[in-house]
Amino acid sequence: MARRWRRPAASAAGMIGAVPWDALRDQARRNAAAGAPAVPDAAAGLADLPVTGPDEIFAVSHAVTRRTGALLLSSGGTTGQPKLTYVAYHQAIDRLLQQWRPLVGGDLLLNLFTPGRLWASHYYMQELAGRCGADVAPFGPITPEEVDGWLPTLRRLGVNAVAGTPTALADLARGVLDAGAATPIAKIIWMAEPWTEEKATIVRKAFPQVQLWGNYGSVETYVIATNTPACDPSVLHLMPDQVLELDDAGALLSRVGDGWTVPTVRYRLGDRVAAATCVCGRPDALRVRGRADDAIKLHGALVGIGTVLDIVRAAPGVRDAQLLLRRAAGERHSVSAVTVHYTGDADPAAVRTRLLHQFYDLGVVARHHPTAVAVEQVPRLRRVERTNKIPPMIWLEPTG
Ligand SMILES: [Zn+2]
Repeated sequence: MARRWRRPAASAAGMIGAVPWDALRDQARRNAAAGAPAVPDAAAGLADLPVTGPDEIFAVSHAVTRRTGALLLSSGGTTGQPKLTYVAYHQAIDRLLQQWRPLVGGDLLLNLFTPGRLWASHYYMQELAGRCGADVAPFGPITPEEVDGWLPTLRRLGVNAVAGTPTALADLARGVLDAGAATPIAKIIWMAEPWTEEKATIVRKAFPQVQLWGNYGSVETYVIATNTPACDPSVLHLMPDQVLELDDAGALLSRVGDGWTVPTVRYRLGDRVAAATCVCGRPDALRVRGRADDAIKLHGALVGIGTVLDIVRAAPGVRDAQLLLRRAAGERHSVSAVTVHYTGDADPAAVRTRLLHQFYDLGVVARHHPTAVAVEQVPRLRRVERTNKIPPMIWLEPTG
């Protein structure tokens, strides 16, 4: 029987990567046997298969790790139930090392990812360092104030690489700059959060020669895409044997072959992703555009959280910003009031005027509901305790 090949190019509408349809269909059938939805007999392409979510990841990841055991990890939980995944002990490092090897023997990696509470990143970095033959220091987050006290030890040990979220890396960089000391950090491994202008600037200032190694994924899927110091830092490359269907409601990931933590077919990621080109010239490049559930409704107006943050962060004197959203009773993404928190020395009234001027619909809402949009200067933005990340928005419950 002739094999039917579908090789959608990156330039084809809404797709990054290429995997033969037969392989995708066979993977969908194996996943169905493990608890994912059945494959319709007439299915002739990915679009004919059901979209999957956290329930399928849980079922399939449980099934594929029954003979070996697994790490039980989770993501989310800040705005809903945690999404649980059984992650194979190998953590897909063999596949990763074929594409991406940020560490070599002789490196000492300072692991700033928060351990515990079922979060994956800390354990992933421990395993990565081990498999690269590097040394690793399982440290967890460090505050800028703590850095000065630790610097002599880190220098004596020869720490030359650091892994963390951009928030954690910026904390380290702030501490290094405050201590007025140079450190021989040559490599940074980052993930789990986008860079902001402020965090990127301070990290570049503290570690001017540093090389950035990024990866993109989730606890449910582990690594999907990677980049190297040769890449545009905001662009990542999809790893082979995967396709991403681009969709404003969240890109859909399908992957085939062995060695992943979990095989997925049309798994809905929480992010919007766009095709990109990279200065390194390699194919299957992508940019993560932000969360798919980024829009809220404020007194009838649709408000993109990323759009508001972009305007505020671009205001003179603003370093970084975050939104506090007061949930309205009723609809899930309906909000009765937005408070913009920002750090920096800008004047709150000037920031508010700029925001309402540049975001027309928000200006209209504010004219009719003067208390619906507030802007406040704060000494620091709020963090998620479990991950030490600075989220773009914090949800507040309705006021009684
Ligand atoms: Zn590249």
